[in-house]
Amino acid sequence: MRVYNFAAGPSTLPECVLEKAQKEFLDFAGTGMSVTEISHRDKAYESVVKGAEALTRELLGVPDDYAVIFVQGGASTQFAAVPLNLMHGGKADYIVTGNFAKKAWQEGKLYGEAVKIGDSSDKVYTYIPDVDKLDYTDGADYVHITSNNTIFGSRYSKLPKCKAPLVADMSSEIFSREINVSDFGVIYAGAQKNLAPAGVTIVIAKRSLIQEPLAICPTMLRWKVQDENGSLYNTPPAFSIYMAKLVLENLKEKGGVKAIQQVNEYKAKLLYDFIDNSKLYKNNILPEFRSIMNVPFVTGSEELDAKFVAEAKKAGLVSLKGHRLVGGMRASIYNAMPVDGVKALIEFMKKFETENK
Ligand SMILES: *Cc1c(COP(=O)(O)O)cnc(C)c1O
Repeated sequence: MRVYNFAAGPSTLPECVLEKAQKEFLDFAGTGMSVTEISHRDKAYESVVKGAEALTRELLGVPDDYAVIFVQGGASTQFAAVPLNLMHGGKADYIVTGNFAKKAWQEGKLYGEAVKIGDSSDKVYTYIPDVDKLDYTDGADYVHITSNNTIFGSRYSKLPKCKAPLVADMSSEIFSREINVSDFGVIYAGAQKNLAPAGVTIVIAKRSLIQEPLAICPTMLRWKVQDENGSLYNTPPAFSIYMAKLVLENLKEKGGVKAIQQVNEYKAKLLYDFIDNSKLYKNNILPEFRSIMNVPFVTGSEELDAKFVAEAKKAGLVSLKGHRLVGGMRASIYNAMPVDGVKALIEFMKKFETENK
């Protein structure tokens, strides 16, 4: 029996997508081979990469002068690829709003002057610094943000208005809400949160910014090379890209990003309203910055938290344990989490609260 899976990543995928993949697993597109067995140079596979790119362009409204590429190494490899492709002047700004943002900044420091211009660790990353009041570095090559903080459950409610191109790690929210791609120089996202199985990372980059990677940039990390080769410079993560395409087809059928954003906001509101009105549960993020994808909450007692996670699991609500940096619980309610899953969680939370007064 399938459970409701609230894992932060890898995370739940639409059931109908899994079924479709299962159905065609042994014979992909009439080739008599599995998609995991065919050459990435095969015509049948080419349509997968091209299709995933086209759907990304359509669903996010990516302008033609932006590259859309699928690469390996996870978002963490992009922490290095960002400076290696963009840091010509040797300095860049970072806003540190969580653990991944901090890692990106630390990686940036390996390649140049990575200036931390904002940091919300003073209040355990429960807010996003006011982007209008930050001291942006003159001549910075880019400003890096993590648009949604997966572990702490916060997100930007407005974007920095900076002269330098904005680079955003959108791993845990890409395709969850409408964005204006041209507000960004580069967007990247590990797929295993809201898009596909682990193994593929999507990069959307303004072509004019990526023409001259640093001399030391490994070929594989050169976005320009990946773009020129249609993400087929070497063997791509073929199965993950295939799954991404199926997920995006499904998203399109559901009405696209605008439609799923409404559902996501509705799910998040149900859960936050319940938490805010309960006596037992608490979410510590400033309401303005609350993520609609990752919702951490605590009871205030570690013992009770552990009991919650264990009993929820028995009730078919799994992977609710919070990240070790935060403790408590975290419900990741990505695109693929149905409204009924969130309602089932709330019903369980109610029952648990009554039983543990
Ligand atoms: C999960 C996550 C990462 C790390 O992704 P990997 O693919 O494991 O490298 C980076 N940034 C954010 C915002 C994430 O949620």
